Amino acid sequence: MNDKITRLNTTQGDFDSALAKLLAWDDSVDHQVNESVRHILRDVKTRGDAAVLEFTEKFDRLKVGSMAELEMGQERLQEALERIPQDQRVALEKAAERVRGYHERQNQKSWQYQDEDGTILGQKVTPLDRAGLYVPGGKAAYPSSVLMNAIPAKVAGVAEVIMVVPTPDGVVNDMVLAAAAIAGVDRVFTIGGAQAVAALAYGTETVPSVDKIVGPGNIFVATAKREVFGVVGIDMIAGPSEILVICDGKTDPDWIAMDLFSQAEHDEQAQSILVSSDADFLDAVEASINKLLPTMEREDIIRTSMLGRGALIKVADLKEAAEVSNRIAPEHLELSVEDPQAMLDDIRHAGAIFMGRYTAEALGDYCAGPNHVLPTSGTARFSSPLGVYDFQKRSSLIGFTPEGADRMGRVASVLARGEGLTAHARSAEYRIKD
Ligand code: NAD
Repeated sequence: MNDKITRLNTTQGDFDSALAKLLAWDDSVDHQVNESVRHILRDVKTRGDAAVLEFTEKFDRLKVGSMAELEMGQERLQEALERIPQDQRVALEKAAERVRGYHERQNQKSWQYQDEDGTILGQKVTPLDRAGLYVPGGKAAYPSSVLMNAIPAKVAGVAEVIMVVPTPDGVVNDMVLAAAAIAGVDRVFTIGGAQAVAALAYGTETVPSVDKIVGPGNIFVATAKREVFGVVGIDMIAGPSEILVICDGKTDPDWIAMDLFSQAEHDEQAQSILVSSDADFLDAVEASINKLLPTMEREDIIRTSMLGRGALIKVADLKEAAEVSNRIAPEHLELSVEDPQAMLDDIRHAGAIFMGRYTAEALGDYCAGPNHVLPTSGTARFSSPLGVYDFQKRSSLIGFTPEGADRMGRVASVLARGEGLTAHARSAEYRIKD
């Protein structure tokens, strides 16, 4: 590991290769993890509940007699909601309200139009019948992830939302269950890892199979999701967290250091990058990093992440900062500048854009309203945050009048014959008037 945070400057001759090296991320699936996940998936597919119970005992050190004991009923969720401290309940409810309000604006509506000969064309939007939410629980509990995954599903109109969350050693987190109660999750099973993904994908005697599995998780969960894709839909394969801050040098360096830490503390592999045209400011933030690091509870994780994958990048101006950011396509992008709106046109690839000095990324993690499940590892180039549209699908609508069938049948006939597909051609020609 480096003993200082990496410094890059766009004027250095090898900037492109140095940036590529900084961003390099080995996402090749570990062979052993792959093997073990395949074994778990096969076993759950064939033996159902019995296999899930065995893996839960093995990996989560939780032994129970039946799957029913691993289901937290609605009463249990309500009890948790009553039991958590009042300030936690108020905060969860406030966050849920904001997340719901934001996602309601994403709701897609069916639409139809008629062309000049009365032909109807349109799109019918239908929610998924059943969605599975993976809420991680191996090393930490994530009530915010319950809200971020469940609320868009509910807003989309998903009829049944099934949540899984591991409870190592049987330790159930009341805030997670309370969040499930607030979000309106229909059923909760305290199972995790690849066995939970398998149960949701294939169904067991107790766990119903779902149409799509969403939510973050560790390497076993991510690998299992990759494997079951096709049997069910999945949202994305999430890599480690990332933040990129563009600063004009006028924000308190301590604020910026802590914003970088807020992602670094997730994981040793997390990536926090600061881009600025002000060299003195980069020095000031480095000094803040060194000053604040020993005060952090997760000091070791943050240090490993900042020294291993973090960087301070010197650019010429904000225009070049935006270009560097677009090359990185970060999960979280903070525009800690005087006029963030003026930069928006230049920003093309980012999961979420946090605008202005007062917009700490951490607010987005919990309660701003937009989703915190975001594309990582440069995938913001082609994908978007988790949202209501992940829980809805679209069917095309096509309805021809006799006049339309005549007019377009002639077009279809020519194209079908050109492709040598006679049945297609004749099917269209039967409906042509003469
Ligand atoms: P997890 O729930 O993803 O994984 C725990 C499960 O892993 C266990 O239940 C067990 O079944 C399985 N497992 C552990 N060791 C195993 C082994 N040797 N073989 C087979 N299975 C095994 O919880 P976690 O481990 O805490 O990981 C959570 C991840 O999710 C972290 O990387 C975290 O950063 C990420 N996360 C991301 C977001 C986001 O929005 N992007 C939010 C919260 C968490």
